[in-house]
Amino acid sequence: MIKALEKPITYVKGVGPKRAEVYSKLGISTAFDLLCHFPRDYVDYSVQVPIAEAPRDDSCCIKARLVKKLAPAFIRKGLTVYKAILTDGTDDITIIIYNAEYQFRSLSDGKEYILFGKVAGNIVRREISSPLILPADSPDLIQPVYHLTEGLSQNMIRQNIHSVLESIGGEIYEPLPKEIMQRYSLCALDYAFENIHFPRDSHALTVAKRRLVFDELMTLRLGMSLLRERSREATGCRMEKTDKSNISDYYTSLPFELTGCQRRAIEDCTGDMCRSWPMNRLVQGDVGSGKTAVAAGAACFAVRNGYQAALMAPTEILAHQHYETLSGFLEPLGIKVALLTGSLTPKNKAALKEQIKNGEYQVVVGTHALVQQTTEFRRLGLVITDEQHRFGVGQRDGLAAKGENPHKLVMSATPIPRTLAMMIYGDLDLSVLDELPKGRQGIETYAVTGKLRSRAFGFVKERLAEGRQGYIVCPMIEENDLELQSVKEYAERLAANDFKDWRVGLLHGRMPAADKDKVMREFKDHELDLLVSTTVVEVGVDVPNAVIMLIENADRFGLSQLHQLRGRVGRGKYKSYCILVTDNVTEDSVKRLKILSSTSDGFKISEEDLKLRGPGDFFGSRQHGLPKLRIADMSSDTELLRMAQAAADGITSADPGLNKPEHAGLRELAERLFDS
Ligand code: ADP
Ligand code: MG
Repeated sequence: MIKALEKPITYVKGVGPKRAEVYSKLGISTAFDLLCHFPRDYVDYSVQVPIAEAPRDDSCCIKARLVKKLAPAFIRKGLTVYKAILTDGTDDITIIIYNAEYQFRSLSDGKEYILFGKVAGNIVRREISSPLILPADSPDLIQPVYHLTEGLSQNMIRQNIHSVLESIGGEIYEPLPKEIMQRYSLCALDYAFENIHFPRDSHALTVAKRRLVFDELMTLRLGMSLLRERSREATGCRMEKTDKSNISDYYTSLPFELTGCQRRAIEDCTGDMCRSWPMNRLVQGDVGSGKTAVAAGAACFAVRNGYQAALMAPTEILAHQHYETLSGFLEPLGIKVALLTGSLTPKNKAALKEQIKNGEYQVVVGTHALVQQTTEFRRLGLVITDEQHRFGVGQRDGLAAKGENPHKLVMSATPIPRTLAMMIYGDLDLSVLDELPKGRQGIETYAVTGKLRSRAFGFVKERLAEGRQGYIVCPMIEENDLELQSVKEYAERLAANDFKDWRVGLLHGRMPAADKDKVMREFKDHELDLLVSTTVVEVGVDVPNAVIMLIENADRFGLSQLHQLRGRVGRGKYKSYCILVTDNVTEDSVKRLKILSSTSDGFKISEEDLKLRGPGDFFGSRQHGLPKLRIADMSSDTELLRMAQAAADGITSADPGLNKPEHAGLRELAERLFDS
């Protein structure tokens, strides 16, 4: 990078310690940071001042006619100064341009221009250095508008950025390889920086923005690849495929036949675990696609290789459920599975931990906190995390220190459009379960208004009468006392009126873990017919006999979240239903809910969600790891996203560590991403 850009912001003309402090609040500490503080908007700026009245220490616009171009002055190698004189009738002004021969040559005698910059010099001779020059007949006079913080004005930022651009003075900074610029028709970075801040015209702005968005997305992708590359330190848990570690008996002992993609995912995992670096794989599959069976297969392989496997769940309910599933799948094969949760008595917990430590249990299922923080293993080789979107990126590595750099498998039920997934999970390898197990009947989904509520209740009761079970979900935006109270009252009303002949339970996030567990258990064992719940049932809960879900105030949820909720039904052989109730009937809410009734494809839904709500939700889930995007918008810049990914992947496939000299600039940018 150019030296001038790496310098602390105080080196920028006009920035003292005080302003530097203000800038630091915006996360700006170097000249380069300032250059990357892109405008949040632009305004047309056509206020001009007469030359005679031009202020001395503020940038301004001047409209003047070119009178005479002076001969260029060659100061030294690499520095040529071009000058021209202009007038507006009130006075003359000399413009000074460094190196930009092309720009200078494009100016014509007798033509009128608008100059933007800071006027210097004295009464006798006014000068303006490196001004932005627009032909006066140019239709667009565009000015940037920046995000501010206290102590900063638009003008200050503009001036400071102008100074930075000036200080580069013709030195060319171009981290992108030439052939990529050519292939994707990208403008030079200098041009982009200049025109994103001081656009010559709207076309220049578009071109500049395109380049910068491309760079940002490409850098992010490269950064994720570097992270992945770095995670490839040696593992002490290299496994082998031998007769002893063969898991074909796992396949045959399952109560169902695995889908093709489940099998492939398991093979991806076993393949990974036989390499000399740790597996780092994400299994992404829609709700009900059978991720647990994949996890169990991977665990089985690890155990056959003499290692322990740990599965961490975000809640006790899920830990419990995974325990049941895994022990159901694995204990017939002679593999011992432990359940470690907060509701164990201290004595039992201590005993269990001892047995984990000495290796009596080969698979440990538990809540994240417990397994990660307080458990010692004899020989931990595989760490599985469920519902990754509940944890941050940083947390994912929490267990690594416990083993000898164990293999990691993450299961996520949040379907994400493929391009986006490649970005967000770019540091992981991906196995996608895009095929549901055979025999699923699909979930019929209806959106209705509150007027039809009692009819909907009637429909629910019909299902219960058939021996099935159901959920009624109430949204609680925040799990606070007030909302909780209303959910409780709602549940009581249901139990006393519409569902007085049925066994109704209540589940909410603020119940003690043991109570939650008890309710969930009762529901699972069909001691309850109807479960009234807040969104705690959202993730993972698996009760195949539950076939109907009614969601109150459905418009309060995002589409992907509704899809997740809905995925609690349709998990068995029975026909299932979802009724979305909303009293807030707007064009938008109708449109959104229609999407859900028309498709059950989580990927499609998440794409719609992305279009409707922007990528915030997807990124929220990975807050800890991903740098904030400055200029790109993954929901609207999809075309550039694809290009940037292709370009980045082309580079890393030939040079994974970005070690070639021509990639030094890119590596610097990619590393910078994850510094802060
Ligand atoms: P999710 O991917 O949502 O976590 P689960 O792993 O909980 O899904 O599986 C959903 C249900 O489907 C479970 O009851 C599970 O036993 C069952 N299941 C998984 N794989 C298959 C399959 N190949 N055929 C039939 N049922 C399956
Ligand atoms: Mg699951």
